[in-house]
Amino acid sequence: MSTVPAPPPAVLPSRLRASGELGPTVSFELYPPRSPGAAERLWQRTLPALAEAAPDFLSVTYGASGSSRETSREVVRWVAEHTAVRPVAHLTCIGSPRDELREVARGFLADGVQDFLALRGDPPAGTITWTPHPEGLQRASELVELLLDADPRLGVGVAATPSCLAPDAPDAATCGDLLALRAKQDAGAGYAITQVFFEVESYTRYVAAARAVGVHLPLVPGLVPLTDPNRLRRLEEISGVPVPGRILAALDAEPDEAHREAAGLAMGAELVDAVLAAGAPGVHLYTFNQAPASLALLDRTGLRPATGRPAL
Ligand code: FAD
Repeated sequence: MSTVPAPPPAVLPSRLRASGELGPTVSFELYPPRSPGAAERLWQRTLPALAEAAPDFLSVTYGASGSSRETSREVVRWVAEHTAVRPVAHLTCIGSPRDELREVARGFLADGVQDFLALRGDPPAGTITWTPHPEGLQRASELVELLLDADPRLGVGVAATPSCLAPDAPDAATCGDLLALRAKQDAGAGYAITQVFFEVESYTRYVAAARAVGVHLPLVPGLVPLTDPNRLRRLEEISGVPVPGRILAALDAEPDEAHREAAGLAMGAELVDAVLAAGAPGVHLYTFNQAPASLALLDRTGLRPATGRPAL
């Protein structure tokens, strides 16, 4: 296994670790619920269970062009008001004028948010040509600047895309995502969270390429529990990141859900252990708004703090 150089003193662990101990950060990602029933499950079950694991932060996605603005804000506000966990609000800039972005950011700040994940977002599905808003931003690096202009004390993270490095990429330095990441670092971002990946080499190659173009940000691996083959297949469709055949075959070969979960947990734990052994500063788990699989992964890898902090 290749080992990537350790990042310099990191903004993410020192600013965002809740426990004050040294060690890998743990964070969870949620999306805004899409129905009253889903909202009920989130408030009653998922959020309290995740908060009790005392993660370093909980991040909440934001629909590009503000499509989920109100529900995203509601989830972020719930985290701020009802738990001791630091909320990180995702914010996308595609299609929005600057004034609107400032107003949305002010709304989050009024709710007690001090941390953002600054993203460009994607044009609506099926869009062939996309024209930026005349008063808007084109890149996430510009959103980092806008947020830090509003308040330089904010913590601002960004996205990183390991899949931009094709296995046969001739020159990593020309990868648009790495140039974008460098620009986001130069704009003041403090850390980056990666898009999902399934093999440790995807992470180590990307980190090595990022370091080679001068990116020294902590690069937090974004991982999914590997227990549900149907979810993994849907994720592959949405993200465009292929799920290795060995993972799907191992899950499909199991006779029932309990065995599939056990097999997926073992594969997920192996990946978590591998990225941490390779120098990752922590793990960010895409929960799909379900706590059990993510919490089982933390237990299996020993990442869940011994004494969790209960929801307030
Ligand atoms: P940017 O950093 O602006 O980069 C986009 C592309 O622009 C680059 O790949 C590159 O091709 C080009 N580019 C930018 N700057 C430069 C430069 N200086 N030089 C050369 N090329 C450049 N989407 C949502 O809608 N809502 C969410 O809540 C959300 N959360 C996410 C969370 C994580 C952890 C991740 C990894 C992704 C998330 N996304 C979300 C998806 C994200 O918005 C998309 O991946 C989008 O396509 C790119 O966003 P970005 O912030 O990386 O964009």
